[in-house]
Amino acid sequence: MIQQFDLGDVVQMKKPHACGANEWTVIRVGADVKIKCDTCGRIVMLDRLDFVRMGKKILKKKESIPEEPVRGDTPPSKIERMEQHR
Ligand SMILES: [Zn+2]
Repeated sequence: MIQQFDLGDVVQMKKPHACGANEWTVIRVGADVKIKCDTCGRIVMLDRLDFVRMGKKILKKKESIPEEPVRGDTPPSKIERMEQHR
């Protein structure tokens, strides 16, 4: 699940795209979420809840985190920690 995401984030879904790639850029966030396949450029629209459910993890935040540039191998535990709000 991807519970927190922002416009411009690169995400991985539970199911790869038909073209075989599994890297998507979030291009619209609202009641619906639009993601663009980074490989073939196709755009897919999902309900926000479907996106949260089908999302696997965030590969790259739009803005890199200052102390540690986020690469594709960020462990999920790290992402969860960043999601905590007070
Ligand atoms: Zn594709």
